[in-house]
Amino acid sequence: MKFNTDAFCSFIGADIIGNSKSEYVDISNISVDSRSLQNDQHTLFFALKGGNHDGHDYIEELVNKGVRYIVISDQTKVCPIEGVLFFKVNNTLAALQGAAIFHRDRFDFPVIGITGSKGKTVVKEWLNYLLSEEYKIIKSPKSYNSQTGVPLSVFGIEEKHNLGIFEVGISTVGEMERLTKVVKPTIGVFTALTEEHGEGFRSLEEKVSEKAKLFQDAEVVICEQNELLLQYFSSVASVYTWSLIDKSANVYGQLHSSSLTVSIDQGDSYSVELPFTDDSSVRNIMTCISTMSYLGYDSEKIAQRIQGLYPVELRMQVKNGVNNCTIIDDAYNADYQSLSIALDFLDKHKVSASKTVILSDMFKSGYEEEEIYGQLKELLSTHQITRVIGIGEHISKYLIGTTNTYLYRDTEEFLQKVSVEDFSDENILVKGARGFRFDRIVTMLEKKTHETVLEVNLTAMCHNLNFYRSKLKPETKVMVMVKAFGYGNGSYEVAKLLAHEKVDYLGVAFADEGIELRKAGVNTKIIVMNPEINAFSAMIAYDLEPEVYSVRELNAFLKVARERNCYEYPIHIKLDTGMHRHGFLTEDLDELIEVLRHTNVVEVKSIFSHLSSSDMPEYTDFTLGQIEMFTHNSDKLIQELGINPIRHILNTSGIFNFSEHQFDMVRLGIGLYGVGNDREEMQQLANVSTLKTRIMQIKEIKDKDSVGYGRRFRAEGKTRIATVPIGYADGVHRSWGPVGYVLVNGQKAEITGSICMDMLMINVTEIKCQENDEVIIFGKDLPVTIIADKIKTIPYEILTSIALRVKRIFFIE
Ligand SMILES: *Cc1c(COP(=O)(O)O)cnc(C)c1O
Repeated sequence: MKFNTDAFCSFIGADIIGNSKSEYVDISNISVDSRSLQNDQHTLFFALKGGNHDGHDYIEELVNKGVRYIVISDQTKVCPIEGVLFFKVNNTLAALQGAAIFHRDRFDFPVIGITGSKGKTVVKEWLNYLLSEEYKIIKSPKSYNSQTGVPLSVFGIEEKHNLGIFEVGISTVGEMERLTKVVKPTIGVFTALTEEHGEGFRSLEEKVSEKAKLFQDAEVVICEQNELLLQYFSSVASVYTWSLIDKSANVYGQLHSSSLTVSIDQGDSYSVELPFTDDSSVRNIMTCISTMSYLGYDSEKIAQRIQGLYPVELRMQVKNGVNNCTIIDDAYNADYQSLSIALDFLDKHKVSASKTVILSDMFKSGYEEEEIYGQLKELLSTHQITRVIGIGEHISKYLIGTTNTYLYRDTEEFLQKVSVEDFSDENILVKGARGFRFDRIVTMLEKKTHETVLEVNLTAMCHNLNFYRSKLKPETKVMVMVKAFGYGNGSYEVAKLLAHEKVDYLGVAFADEGIELRKAGVNTKIIVMNPEINAFSAMIAYDLEPEVYSVRELNAFLKVARERNCYEYPIHIKLDTGMHRHGFLTEDLDELIEVLRHTNVVEVKSIFSHLSSSDMPEYTDFTLGQIEMFTHNSDKLIQELGINPIRHILNTSGIFNFSEHQFDMVRLGIGLYGVGNDREEMQQLANVSTLKTRIMQIKEIKDKDSVGYGRRFRAEGKTRIATVPIGYADGVHRSWGPVGYVLVNGQKAEITGSICMDMLMINVTEIKCQENDEVIIFGKDLPVTIIADKIKTIPYEILTSIALRVKRIFFIE
């Protein structure tokens, strides 16, 4: 789209910086993500400042990619560049929303705005499926429902659309007003109200009244028949209600075992077969039926289409594949927007250069196929996919003749003709529409290991990083400890995430760990905390920076560094202030200064120390004493050497308890992985790791029978025992056996008898479960802190004991 530059500036409230001039701006893509491959000369990039992420930091990278239109708020972070238009605004997020409002106002067709405490994304996806035969729908991709997600979704509206479906989520008062103008729904859908009112709201009433603002210009609000909802919604619009108990609702549904009897406005009833019968699904289905009914669909169409509803899978999982492949398993719809998100994800997480995409027919929406597949081809070519595997009649028809493209009629044909040997050292995105059953392809390509997995939630990790950053001044640097395989979680994926989050340093224990990261392409600065003298040469070769803890070690390093002609090679001085592990004591400083004064082979980049008891209130005085000694001794080095290093002393608990002593940098460890040493701290963190497996066998044993080695469990009465394939060799401490339990379908199942090397047995007499059901060893509902307390160790030990044979699966939400 072409806009007159002056008009464009005036509607987003911008001034042009620098002397680049252009009468028109020609924009076809809006971006807030520097990593998207679609950043090019027709992209308008908004440099958002969020929590601790600053889009301004990526400007150089973007300009190199060809981006020419950049909206900024911080002029100090840019210098004028020929041919690039910088639009200076006060607030880039407000400008993004303003631009979206401008765009939205150009269109006049029905828009469904969905909000509620849960079920928004499922209802949006389902409505898209249910209505797509009659409408050309633009919807928000995935769960793009935030202050940035909503405007980005709205920018997708084009002339060809005739129905919008957007979801809107808010977390606190004041947020809805802006998004209401962006979406301007004509039909409001309220999915569900849950009791907990969330941090951002004082009461349930406040939450509903804030959400009601979305509906202020709507002709109708579709919601459950509920007093509180009606009180707020009926004052802004007319309401169209559903109920499972109240016959007076517009849509009344009576639930039988696997069907609903539905009657509209107390008229004749008809039966709808349900694909899902759990409580939330039934409620979401009632919301969908009501919306269809409001739009005038007849009972036959409603009943027929509801049967076709499918589970909505939002997670994108990264799995280890056969022959050194990495698999990205995206079981979400195969539609254009979500494919575009998945391809960006593929670029961010790729391990080797080669990219393969396995793709089914695209979602049948109301558009012409030519258009759908034309756009698809363009998208695949922008992302420079090495090999495209298309499965399905439609995709085959349109992709035939394209280079590096292999086509199959259906999943069966693919499985028959292709073998795992056809894949090696590549990143494979697997994305198929429902019905194609691409889970079979994932199973084929996945590295075969046992059922036990450690799931690592990268989204939660980001949340935790930002939580600790919020305790810091904006200029304080962050180093993240990824030693011991990222506290057991997996070092490469974690490091990659942290590199993108722009942490300043990574910390590893041994040189080998750092070398692994470098080989995997991690460029962030890395400090080796336990450098061994025989690894110095390799460290220099891989650009790893040593901790220096003694003069003997320093001299050994200087010798190697001189041989390699180093000049001002970065080193980090460790002071011992009471931990008595590594480092220089006060009396060692003069000798250290003497050595450093006479060399320019190395440069002191930072000076640091480590707290022994930052999590223990009873030792606050001791900790403050450590901090004081650190200040004093580092001052001495700084003055006598005339240097200006980064100073750092706080670990996770230090950040939480002593943030006033953050100096220039902190070293975050366990907190990133979702574990706090303090209850209050723990509540603010998101769970990162879940260790899970499946029941292998269930049997019933008789009264007084025993279970396991040494007959340490004796049945009292008939007992159901389940065998689970995880043991102490996987990292479940044997001492957890006598006191421990696991979770099966959300319920506690006690461990019976001794934990074996590769297996353990649990008592499931009182639990409804069957073979192959999931078993949680630890996770959100059974935190490692509980296990650690019971067996008198610390969460650190539990996390780092998980054996490498346990497959790690990373996912984002
Ligand atoms: C491991 C480590 C940390 C991180 O400690 P947490 O308690 O996990 O935050 C910080 N500094 C040093 C020197 C470490 O070895």
